Amino acid sequence: MRFTKLRRRFLELVWSRHGPIRAYDILRLMDEKDGSMAPNTVYRALDFLLEAGLIHRLDSINAYMGCADPETEHSGQFLICRKCESAAEIHDPGIDLTLGRDAERLGFEPERKTVEVRGLCPACTVA
Ligand SMILES: [Zn+2]
Ligand SMILES: [Zn+2]
Repeated sequence: MRFTKLRRRFLELVWSRHGPIRAYDILRLMDEKDGSMAPNTVYRALDFLLEAGLIHRLDSINAYMGCADPETEHSGQFLICRKCESAAEIHDPGIDLTLGRDAERLGFEPERKTVEVRGLCPACTVA
């Protein structure tokens, strides 16, 4: 696997956020520090990190997040706060398994099994 300087830089950016980050924000941050970059380059680098299992994509808020446990292959489940858009990763292999099994029973071939749960985080529940 080729880990270019750029990809490493991206991984650092996504990780430094400790929460979801949008491709747009990554572009802006790269702009500030590393000079302007074509959006295609950004998306390609993100795709690479996704495939390598180092980050997750959260479709419901159109953002990316560093994986809490990149060593093991998993889809991940995420608790996403609808108010502050923070996210917490749950990594329950049982949910992955159940989803895979039920999909197979229905003859469905899942390409992505990431579960995104919307709600309120502890901080926003109090407020
Ligand atoms: Zn993960
Ligand atoms: Zn919140």
